[in-house]
Amino acid sequence: MTVQNITVLGSTGSIGVSTLNVIRRHPDRYQAFALCAHSQVDKLFEQCREFQPRFAVLRDATLAAQLTDRLRAAGLKTEVRHGVEALIELSALPEVDAVMAAIVGAAGLEPTLAAARAGKRVMLANKEVLVMAGELFMHAVRAHGATLLPVDSEHNAIFQALPADFVRGLDACGVRRILLTASGGPFRNAPLDTLAHVTPEQACAHPNWVMGRKISVDSATMMNKGLEVIEAHWLFAAPPQQIQVVVHPQSVIHSAVEYADGSVLAQLGNPDMRTPIAYAMAWPERIAAGVEPLDLFKIARLDFHAPDFERFRCLQLAYDVLATGGTASAILNAANEVAVAAFLERDLPFLGIARLNEAVLAALPAGPQGNLGDVMAADVEARHLASQMIRERRFA
Ligand code: NAD
Ligand code: MG
Repeated sequence: MTVQNITVLGSTGSIGVSTLNVIRRHPDRYQAFALCAHSQVDKLFEQCREFQPRFAVLRDATLAAQLTDRLRAAGLKTEVRHGVEALIELSALPEVDAVMAAIVGAAGLEPTLAAARAGKRVMLANKEVLVMAGELFMHAVRAHGATLLPVDSEHNAIFQALPADFVRGLDACGVRRILLTASGGPFRNAPLDTLAHVTPEQACAHPNWVMGRKISVDSATMMNKGLEVIEAHWLFAAPPQQIQVVVHPQSVIHSAVEYADGSVLAQLGNPDMRTPIAYAMAWPERIAAGVEPLDLFKIARLDFHAPDFERFRCLQLAYDVLATGGTASAILNAANEVAVAAFLERDLPFLGIARLNEAVLAALPAGPQGNLGDVMAADVEARHLASQMIRERRFA
């Protein structure tokens, strides 16, 4: 077996570290070709020391020079690049077999799109890519013969429960509905009047998963589940009315597919992202991921509830933007990124996130998603307006 070269976009993040954990277990199958991070020089240096990639990437020239100095002092040859152009190039080079798209937010769009256009195996954690530009991205995947494997645990579960030829269409495959499970986050049962005072620390304390801060806040507002509805729509060509969100607090069933004959196929496992990461890396084979076996006797029971669209406005907004189409979901994504960042900086209250998202959507008309320029323009405009609304303290 030839060793696969992997570019890890976002190697210092939660998904990036779990990806390197799986690579470490299988040196006969995988090697890190490029490790890309934003600004954590120390962490990236340690990763370079262990995995000795050909390339490492940081945000800017100053940080890149710092990393180069440290690598040379340690006798390491990894070449250091910087900026988004380097991310794009190192996602598309002929030597690259697979790209783990694990940057958070809109920053991952261009390199992930470049990987798809180069026909790579694209392992997609960075759901914002599909939320912003699902139409364009899926077109690039098809036009360039890329292999798209979902890493988001729910979509990975759905992928596992669908027939191999699901691209024929869900109806043709006898699929009635996709059952997208959601933990409900830390505030599923919190009294409504306490939500106004939620702190970033409380919002980031997810009951079942340890994740980056942005997705943790998204889980607390259930915007994450909304983004995942949009993600499922594009990945599986599923109409929104065939995507049912099911609140399942234990996060053991990662999602399921309901068929016309009454069968429901679900994927279960411990909440550990190394399972979907390893699946995406080895598909159609399966490899060890270091994940504890599921102990059903210990779990003993599984609960299910209907989602509360009143409490979790952001979930409704996701269905709304799918109905609008075009750049509406890019507008929502951009407003939400600004809102979450402001909440983490204590510039916006927790309930202000949904209110800001809604206000930005109401103020900006959506246009067609014709090309990347349309998406980027909608993204910039929405960020600008969202920031302005926060500055004017409209939701304080
Ligand atoms: P994180 O914040 O832990 O890590 C983000 C990574 O992206 C870091 O390596 C950071 O250096 C890099 N990055 C951030 N901004 C960048 C920029 N402008 N340019 C280059 N690199 C940049 O996030 P995470 O929790 O690992 O999530 C990554 C993505 O995976 C998100 O889209 C998230 O929604 C998705 N995801 C995460 C989980 C999870 O369990 N953490 C599960 C499902 C999906
Ligand atoms: Mg998920």
